[in-house]
Amino acid sequence: MPYKTREEKNAQAARYREANRELLRERSRLYRSAHPEAVAAGNARWYAEHAEEQRAKGRAQSREYRLSHRTEVRETGRRWYEENKERRLAVARRWHEEHAPRAAALGAARNANVKAARLGQPDRLAADEVEALWSAQPTCQSCGRPVHGLDHIVGFERGGSNTRANIQNLCPPCNTAKSNRERRGETRKVA
Ligand SMILES: [Zn+2]
Repeated sequence: MPYKTREEKNAQAARYREANRELLRERSRLYRSAHPEAVAAGNARWYAEHAEEQRAKGRAQSREYRLSHRTEVRETGRRWYEENKERRLAVARRWHEEHAPRAAALGAARNANVKAARLGQPDRLAADEVEALWSAQPTCQSCGRPVHGLDHIVGFERGGSNTRANIQNLCPPCNTAKSNRERRGETRKVA
């Protein structure tokens, strides 16, 4: 039987691979250890050609895993959160040191503006004005701690404006204490 069909050839090759599995594995191992660059280049080429496909496969597997292991995934996330607490805090602290004045000024101005809008107060504070306040008065006006806070000297309820002229640096506890005094009728103007 001189001619073999493609199927017959494939079947024969498969039988050969099956019968010589160890030998082929050893030959492949020897080749790979003798030609590391060629192997690395081949791997790189393969990954480059199949990158998108591999990524899609990875995403699909990951999605499937998350859906079928909800509890484990949640637990792993919680553990990661706990184990990396210090690292996350360090990152947050560094970010805060680098961006805090600006971020805090933006937040404080936004809060003041939301409150002003709610009470029908027409003025809007800019973050720049809050930063200017803090650089002029870097500590709490009342207790002297180096804390940044924003207080309206005369509250909106008493007709105070939402402007640079009517704001002071007051830390949150001092701000609360001031509000309480005002509520009790002790209307000392500053702090
Ligand atoms: Zn204070």
